[in-house]
Amino acid sequence: QQPLLIVRGFKKHFPIRGGLLGRTVAHVRAVDGVSFHVRKGETLGIVGESGCGKSTVARLLMRLMQPDAGEQIFDGDSVGSEGGLSVAELRRQAQMVFQDSASSLNPRMPVQGSVAFGPMAFGMPKAEAMALARELLTKVGLNPALFGGRYPHELSGGQKQRVNIARALALKPRMVILDEAVSALDKSVEAQVLNLLQTLKRELSLTYVFISHDLGVVRWISDRVMVMYLGEVVEIGPADQLYNAPKHPYTRALLASRPAMDPDHRREEAPVSGDPPNPVNPPSGCRFHTRCPFAEPLCASRAPSLGDSEGGAHLAACHMQDPDSGHSQARLQ
Ligand code: SF4
Ligand code: MG
Repeated sequence: QQPLLIVRGFKKHFPIRGGLLGRTVAHVRAVDGVSFHVRKGETLGIVGESGCGKSTVARLLMRLMQPDAGEQIFDGDSVGSEGGLSVAELRRQAQMVFQDSASSLNPRMPVQGSVAFGPMAFGMPKAEAMALARELLTKVGLNPALFGGRYPHELSGGQKQRVNIARALALKPRMVILDEAVSALDKSVEAQVLNLLQTLKRELSLTYVFISHDLGVVRWISDRVMVMYLGEVVEIGPADQLYNAPKHPYTRALLASRPAMDPDHRREEAPVSGDPPNPVNPPSGCRFHTRCPFAEPLCASRAPSLGDSEGGAHLAACHMQDPDSGHSQARLQ
C-alpha cells in the first residue's frame, strides 16, 4: 500500500534582511532537505528542539508557505503541480490544529458557527453545516446544546482545543497535522485530549502528523518518530525502537535529558548540553558535530546521510551507523 504522504527533499530558507536597503544578507536554513513518508492510518511524531524546523515542516505540508524545493505526494498525487493535487484540495484533505487554540478561533463567533464555517465555505447549506457542527461537537465531548452558542473566551483551554479538533474534522480530512496541539494544556486535560485524538483516529480512519517538543507524549501517540536537528532529519524509525535503542547521538542526548518522571515538572524544551548552533550558518559536515561526544575529524567534513526509510526502517544519519564511513565506530553505550 502506498503511503498517504510522501515528502522528498523539502527545503525552506528564510531570508534575513539587513542594511539600509533591506537587502537579503543571509538565510535561515529552517528546513534543509527533509524527506519522509506517512502511511495511511499511522501517526508520525516529529520531535526536536525549538528552531529545528518541525513547525516549518508542518506549514509546508499545508502549503501555508511554499517550499523552496522538494516534492510532496499526497495519496499518489503531486501537490501543487500541473495535473496534480491543488492546494485548495490538499487543504480539505489535510487539516491542522495549532497550539494556540484561542487565536485560531474567531472571538466574535459562537463556536458552533466556527465549526460550521469550513463546510459552508465549501458550499454546504447553513442548516446542514450547523447540524454537522452539532454532531462534531458531540464527537469531541462537548454537548452542543450547552457549548455551541458559547464564544471562545467562555471556554477553557481544553474545551477550545476540542472545538479546534471538531473544526479540523468538519471537512472530513484524511490527515490531521497537530503542531504542539496539546502543549498548552494541563497534564490531566492533555491526557483527555490525547485519548480523544486516539479515539477519533480509529473511528474516522485518520492519519496524524504529531509535532511536539514533549518526548513522552510523542512516544505515547506515535507509531513512528522522526527526530529533527537544525533543519534536517537525524533519525527516524518505529517509536519503540527509537526510544528503546536510539541510534543517533542527538536522539540519545534528547532522551537522556528528559525530566524525571514527575508529571508536574514540565520543561518547555528538551535540552541538550550547549545551545544549538545558528541555523543561518550551520556547522559543516554533520550539523551535530559541535555538540556530539563521538565527533571525529571526519564528522566536520562529511555529512552523513540518512537513507530511505520508506519501508519503515529505523535509520540514523550518523557516520557511526555506516561501517564504511571511516568513523572509528565508538560504541554508543
Ligand atoms: Fe556525532 Fe559524527 Fe555521528 Fe555526527 S556523524 S552524530 S558528529 S558521530
Ligand atoms: Mg514550534
